[in-house]
Amino acid sequence: MLQTCNSYEFRFNMNNCDKGAFFQPWKPGWLTRDKRRFVRRQAASLVVWPVVSLALGVLLWVVLFSMLDADRQRMEDDALRQATLLSATYAQQIGRNVAQLDQLTSVLKSVWENAESMRTLEEIQKKTGFIDNTILGISVADTDGIVTSTTIPGALGRSVSDRDDFRFHQSHPTPSLRIGPPLKSLLPETEIVVLSRRLDHPRGGFAGVIWASIDAAFLADFTNKSSLGATGVLALVGQDGVLRAAKLGGTVESALRPKVIQPDFLRAGPWIQGVSHASWFADGIRRYLASEQVPGYPLVAVVGLGAEDVFRPLQEIEANYRRIGAAGTAVFILFAIAATVMSLRLAWRKHCEETIRSTYRIATEGAKEGFFMWSPIYGKGDSIVDYEMVDCNERGASFYGLTRKDLIGSRLRQLYSGPLLQELLGVVTNVVEHGFHEEEYKTRSDTKLDATWINRRFVRAGENIAVTIRDIGERKQLEQEKSVLAEQDTLTALPNRHWLSRYLPLALERAGREGRFLATLFVDLDKFKIVNDSWGHSTGDQLLQAVAHRMQTVLRPDDRIARFGGDEFIVLLENIEREANAAEVAQRIVDALAQPFHIHRQEFLIGTSIGISLYPRDGQEAETLIRNADIAMYNAKADIGMRYHFFSDALFARLQRRWETERELARATENDEFIVHYQPRVSLRNGTLAGLEALVRWQHPVRGIVYPGDFIPAAESTGLILRLGEIVMDKVGAQLAQWRAEGMPLVPVSVNISGKQFNDGSVTGLVERCLQQYGLPASTIEVELTESTMATNAQQVAHELAALRAMGVSVHLDDFGTGYSSLAMLHSLDVDVLKVDRAFTSRLGRAEEGEVLFRAIISMAKALEMKVIAEGVESDGQLRILQQLGCEEVQGYLMSAPLPASEVRAFQVPVFGQAEAARASACDH
Ligand code: C2E
Ligand code: MG
Ligand code: MG
Repeated sequence: MLQTCNSYEFRFNMNNCDKGAFFQPWKPGWLTRDKRRFVRRQAASLVVWPVVSLALGVLLWVVLFSMLDADRQRMEDDALRQATLLSATYAQQIGRNVAQLDQLTSVLKSVWENAESMRTLEEIQKKTGFIDNTILGISVADTDGIVTSTTIPGALGRSVSDRDDFRFHQSHPTPSLRIGPPLKSLLPETEIVVLSRRLDHPRGGFAGVIWASIDAAFLADFTNKSSLGATGVLALVGQDGVLRAAKLGGTVESALRPKVIQPDFLRAGPWIQGVSHASWFADGIRRYLASEQVPGYPLVAVVGLGAEDVFRPLQEIEANYRRIGAAGTAVFILFAIAATVMSLRLAWRKHCEETIRSTYRIATEGAKEGFFMWSPIYGKGDSIVDYEMVDCNERGASFYGLTRKDLIGSRLRQLYSGPLLQELLGVVTNVVEHGFHEEEYKTRSDTKLDATWINRRFVRAGENIAVTIRDIGERKQLEQEKSVLAEQDTLTALPNRHWLSRYLPLALERAGREGRFLATLFVDLDKFKIVNDSWGHSTGDQLLQAVAHRMQTVLRPDDRIARFGGDEFIVLLENIEREANAAEVAQRIVDALAQPFHIHRQEFLIGTSIGISLYPRDGQEAETLIRNADIAMYNAKADIGMRYHFFSDALFARLQRRWETERELARATENDEFIVHYQPRVSLRNGTLAGLEALVRWQHPVRGIVYPGDFIPAAESTGLILRLGEIVMDKVGAQLAQWRAEGMPLVPVSVNISGKQFNDGSVTGLVERCLQQYGLPASTIEVELTESTMATNAQQVAHELAALRAMGVSVHLDDFGTGYSSLAMLHSLDVDVLKVDRAFTSRLGRAEEGEVLFRAIISMAKALEMKVIAEGVESDGQLRILQQLGCEEVQGYLMSAPLPASEVRAFQVPVFGQAEAARASACDH
């Protein structure tokens, strides 16, 4: 089916591939098999967008996590830096505090050693007031380890000889301060750290030990508490690896039996830098640790910041990052969906277009049509500068002598140039505007197309232009051949009337351009009809062939001859210089056709009449020239001497009058310009009025009375005769009715009826209506018809005559003797009266044969039981002879010319011996 539909229809018939409407879930069965197959084929390209979106999503998360990581790293670094800073500060603070105690103990030592008078610390205390609330107490033990002096109530006299610090000083003669491990004090029960010094005798030797007990918590009391946060750790560790004091968050940790700080921590210390090990703290919190040497003392200040505190801001940041990530992911998912849908729709659209295109291509591949798709190429300002061929079928490519592969990608401007390109661009612009263009195109000599005639069809398809091309060379050739045939007369093989109507205007144009004459010869055979009728069509045909052949032999090569119809030929003389040249050719034809023709051993003499019209004198147009030649030909026919006639203005004037009459007749029938005269018919038996013949006259407003001979032919040719017949019949009826009303004895009135009226089949009706309308008996109206009327439509006429006679209307055969009516016809028609034409009457008395003929007619009429009326009786002699021959009635000027109705009233028929009087009253002619 596709092969038969054109690209235009095709484009709109592809409903099954609904472009741009892939998703239509609201339509049941929208996911057609075609769509499912399409999706399967597109699977690879469909995952592109989700994959891209996934990659972008992953990238986003990677970036976010790496940023989070960087933030974490920065925070860790900050935490370590902070811990370092804090540990330094802590070390400074401890250093300062311990230095104070160092100095105090140093002073007390020197006081103790030198001031014998102040042997008790209470005294010294009282004197110096050295003890502040950081110091729990200061004690002195003698060489045996017995507390000899102390600020601690109840401690006096106790032995400390087994204490590490006592034994250390006893055995180490170093004067420097010793910071002991944490101890449990007895009174009150607190953890203390003992700062001790050795006392020496002024002359040397161990004199005891002086020491200050300080609350371990004091050592863990760091001024910059807030920086530590809730999980920060503060530890003071001796270089001996023994914890002196510690604090976790706001809580002081036992230095002796720490709950949180684990032995691993102390084993790893005291120089610790970095992140804590999991086993270091019992609370499991990771800490960022830094340590600093307490200046001047074997102590290390350790500060650790809890991961929780350090990373608290990170949670917020991470939450933010997660939000960004989630939002980004959502965007990418949406993007993936949208992009997939869009690309699916786009691919579907392309698929549909491609389907349409390829289907059409396939459909047209086997066909004769070449198919091309041109796509516009835009220049600056969005104007189309060229077209590119984006698709075509192999058949299409073959038009260019290329393969499809080679042709696709070609530009219009590569394939065409010059006027061809301009012409094509014009067509394309028209298509862009109107959407469609189709034409049959004769390719030019410089075309690249391999065809002489093509049918090309352009259809706008979106931005593109689809073109189909069909080679119609063969068809055109056939058409041409057909047109040659159509323009050829099959019988004579001459060009025919169609050819003439095409050729003559061109020849006239040429003659006009070159200022030359052109003669049109209208050749009509004179007696062809007789041959054809009497010898049959086959003989007629052979005669026409012979005539055509003979005419061709007398014409010059440049002269053209065509068969115009029946026995009419037209000869065109394009190469003549004057009228005489045409006359010479006409004479040659006349001479040639005057020679007898021999067909079937029969000799035929036909002769010819030729009418000649000359361009430009006798007309400018083909039709006029042919018509004028025709008019001239009729003239030639009427002329017995001259067989050819030139058209003349006089001829034309006559014709014009005829046309004018035809025009005026229409008006006359409307304006009631007709009157009827009545010519009496007289009975030869008794000289009485036997009847009247109604004869129409036209009262022309300018020309006066016009007689039937001048307008009846025109009325017949225009068809107005039908209306005129009605008018006359009506007037006759009215007149009869009037005469009856006036008391006149009625005689029958015969009305002339044209053959056209009989052809129309309206005669019986006409008479019937008239009789009815005026209440007249059928015997008052008679009908006259001529022989030719009878001959032309015998059946119709016979039918009408029978009907008329049945009505009681008598029928007269008018102008008898001028036509060809046969006896058989006369008999079958049952005519009542023979009106013998005046041509016969006029011969009476002049020649013997006149009488013979008349007698024959009268005896024949009698045999057929017909009455005979002699027309045109003008003399007494004729009247006498007619009386002798037994003619029943006479009509003629001798008795009376046709009279106006008013004069019929007083009419007396002057038959015998009154011819002179009658002639005097012949006012009508
Ligand atoms: P037609 O029917 O043969 O009429 C006789 C014609 O001969 C009339 O001519 C008449 O005036 C003329 N005529 C009569 N007596 C003589 C005579 O003694 N000598 C000469 N030379 N002529 C005589 P008209 O009136 O000019 O009519 C001519 C023809 O026109 C008629 O011939 C008839 O055929 C036709 N015609 C007249 N009236 C009508 C009409 O109403 N209808 C039709 N269809 N034809 C009509
Ligand atoms: Mg008549
Ligand atoms: Mg007559």
